[in-house]
Amino acid sequence: MVLRADFRHLLEHKRAGLPLTENELGEFVQGLVAGVVDPAQSGALLMACAIRGINRTETLALTRAMVASGESLNLDFPGGAVDKHSSGGVGDTGSIVAVPILAACGVTVAKLSGRALGHTGGTLDKLESIQGFQTALSSKRFIECVRSVGCAIAAQSSTLAPADKIIYALRDATSTIDEIGLITASIVSKKIAGGAQDILFDVKVGSGAFMKDIHAATNLAHSLVDVVRAFGRRSAALITDMNEPVSARIGTGLEIISAREFLRGERADTRLSHLVSALCGEVLNIRAIQNPAARVQKVLSSGAAYEKFCEMIEAQGGSVSDMERLEASSNRTTILAPRAGYVRGVRTDALGLTARFLTERYGRQAGLEVQATIGQRVGVEQPLLTVYAPSDDLPQLSSYFEIGDEAPAERPLLVDRIVN
Ligand code: URA
Repeated sequence: MVLRADFRHLLEHKRAGLPLTENELGEFVQGLVAGVVDPAQSGALLMACAIRGINRTETLALTRAMVASGESLNLDFPGGAVDKHSSGGVGDTGSIVAVPILAACGVTVAKLSGRALGHTGGTLDKLESIQGFQTALSSKRFIECVRSVGCAIAAQSSTLAPADKIIYALRDATSTIDEIGLITASIVSKKIAGGAQDILFDVKVGSGAFMKDIHAATNLAHSLVDVVRAFGRRSAALITDMNEPVSARIGTGLEIISAREFLRGERADTRLSHLVSALCGEVLNIRAIQNPAARVQKVLSSGAAYEKFCEMIEAQGGSVSDMERLEASSNRTTILAPRAGYVRGVRTDALGLTARFLTERYGRQAGLEVQATIGQRVGVEQPLLTVYAPSDDLPQLSSYFEIGDEAPAERPLLVDRIVN
């Protein structure tokens, strides 16, 4: 017979809108990891949390319990290591570019990343499109790579905050994914267990983000920064615009091409450049490193950041020559504007989903490349999008672009900065 702990008292408290105590949350998380919580009770508790909300004290207690559910890495580098987390975007090569830039600036970066989720791309999937690149590193190997190169990007190992995997699956099954406290505990528990001393969040907002409105994005950003601070680590969050892709190319291999060209200074990429300056500038600020913009510029123009990128690829088993040869598929179709006017908006989530579908079906050289940005004036039959894949079974892709007579208001890439 399987013994089950009874958590009805927690359900009654939460249903009545009372906060749960640190002990109650701790016991619940331990019970989940031990497999002794009745699934009906765990689902009901998560639903009560989603309806009633969980306050900052409960969020911190839940995060602590989730960290305690597994091992924690000890990253004893001088000054500690930095991690950076994006809440998920489209055409977003920010991490792949910022990590080697920061390492070239002398900042140790130990980055734990995730896979594609819904319409958003995953940093691990992009890096694994480079032949041989390993992201499933043991804790020992991850630390060795960080020590030898100054940076590494790896998958979350199953030994760090294992409670998150269980709770995440329950949230997914009970439609309770989007409660800010639950999201915070999920993200921060993994980052704290990952051992970074300084954690920067890039909270995306807009049509290609999970947070569609600024109010939700701001709440999440404050919650993340506050909870990290309560662990005695430094943190900041940038809220950045995701109403159109960061880089024009979308797809695993195509985004590696964007990162390569950016790090080698081969192609101007305004949105990526703004994002990377903001992200790296914030980390260098946290580290009290003087003249952040000049430092970033120097490691880019000297080639030091690109060299770090190549060193990281080699240390993680990847082939630099394969990365350097990677090109978009020659099988391509151009989608043209059905009318003249200003591009007023883009269905960025739909672009992300389409690129994900194409990459999964046709491989790393497939995907999309946006040819027209928001605010740009296009003539009739001017290119909007290049599709790198066979042209059969494509949806009506021109409908992803809203074209109108009036130019839209300009939107800055950096929407807000939360440093508390
Ligand atoms: N990413 C996570 O790791 N957890 C969440 O809950 C949401 C995004």
